[in-house]
Amino acid sequence: MPIIDGERVIADLKRLAEFGRYKTGVHRPTYSPIDVESRHWLADKLGEAGLDTVIDGIGNVIGRNPSARQRLLVGSHSETQPYGGWLDGSLGVIYGLELARAFAADPNCAALGIEVAAWADEEGHYGNYLGSRSFTDALPEEEIDQTRGRDDGTPLRQALERAGFAGRPPERVDPKRYIGYLEAHIEQGDTLDTSGLRIGVVETIVGIWNYRVSLIGEQNHAGTTRMVRRKDAGVSMVRLATRIHDRFPEIAGPRTVWTIGRILLEPNAPSVVPGRAEMLVQFRDADIDRLAAFERNLHELVNEADRAGPCACEIETIVRTEPRPMDPGFQEQIEAAAERHAPRLHLRMPSAAGHDAAVLSYRMPAGMMFIPSLRGISHHWSEDSKEEDTVLGAQVFADAAERILRAETFTRRS
Ligand SMILES: [Zn+2]
Repeated sequence: MPIIDGERVIADLKRLAEFGRYKTGVHRPTYSPIDVESRHWLADKLGEAGLDTVIDGIGNVIGRNPSARQRLLVGSHSETQPYGGWLDGSLGVIYGLELARAFAADPNCAALGIEVAAWADEEGHYGNYLGSRSFTDALPEEEIDQTRGRDDGTPLRQALERAGFAGRPPERVDPKRYIGYLEAHIEQGDTLDTSGLRIGVVETIVGIWNYRVSLIGEQNHAGTTRMVRRKDAGVSMVRLATRIHDRFPEIAGPRTVWTIGRILLEPNAPSVVPGRAEMLVQFRDADIDRLAAFERNLHELVNEADRAGPCACEIETIVRTEPRPMDPGFQEQIEAAAERHAPRLHLRMPSAAGHDAAVLSYRMPAGMMFIPSLRGISHHWSEDSKEEDTVLGAQVFADAAERILRAETFTRRS
């Protein structure tokens, strides 16, 4: 079994966190100068680990193993959320780096190759999973042309130019090259932490369905418009939001979550009756039938609100990602590795967050492993994990990767 160096893992994670450090977390948006610097640092480290490394036209850092006969692709993303945590994404990238080194140092693993990817923009500063979608040939050029930064509207083409990545060829997957894709990540929720467990084996990455609900009323003077005459889009929206939050628990499964995360009023002024209101509604579940039931109910409530008046009510689908099951064989191997290093302290569970592994799973078998997040906090600079869990996770991950590579060798030969 390849043996990981726990101190080296922690030291590399701390070094990567220096790029854009903010309090105890990191502010490293995709394609920002500090993000570009960190990608060059990563590329150098992967090169030192013996991988042929490139940064491609979308900013993916890809380290290839020139000599192995069986290859497993391992990675995660390397940018962070605004003022986010130091482990979200970075953990999986540094585990990949450590696995490349540990496999190279183990003579028994000479034929087994770890290749490493640090995907660009999983966190959505510009688009959705730009790096992994580009790699899997699922990112059309026209989308790159049209995409702009979510904060300041910078065209993606311009950001790539400034980063020095424009004009570089995109790296594309050759599924035949890989046995599969493996990603380690912090859980981001509190399931493992609150139950004293140390490893999560991901069964499914949830589907995430997003909608824009608009209410159209009549903008008017807040003093002179009598109450009976009003078509107040704000009132209609609040009523509808309440009905949604009342209805969803009746049809929810044990892990369904839903959020109205953004509300807008127009013109949003103290002395004006709102003429238009908008809210973004999102729900997540691992079961596609349940997602469909949520959608039916949401449409029903919107239609009821529209019929009841006085405001017109419309709904528009923004994006729906399918739940993505992880490879059952990979789950077994991760679980076996977890049982060896942390007996009975592991759990099969869904991932309630989206990950690049979902994108990769359309092209090759994919698997994911979690380590606990302290108090379930993530997407915040205070995000953290126990050092002993980070080190244990790296060893379980290395063991799991070897099991997957050897299991496949066995299957192919027999
Ligand atoms: Zn992440």
